[in-house]
Amino acid sequence: MKEKNKMHCPVCSNTYKLSDKVILDINNTVFHIECFNHQFSPKQLGIFIEVIAGNEIFHEFLPVS
Ligand SMILES: [Zn+2]
Repeated sequence: MKEKNKMHCPVCSNTYKLSDKVILDINNTVFHIECFNHQFSPKQLGIFIEVIAGNEIFHEFLPVS
């Protein structure tokens, strides 16, 4: 099985699980909802798999189906 790139939260350093609730901010940084400090304006809120699937810049992080 090919090793995939993993994204991790810049606040808590934990790797995202596909079902984690995350916030994408205006700088295209992904945070856990509970880690987001509202320093920047949120752009999108959702679960991790939906946020990365909806933004082409993150498609390298999509799991291979
Ligand atoms: Zn976090």
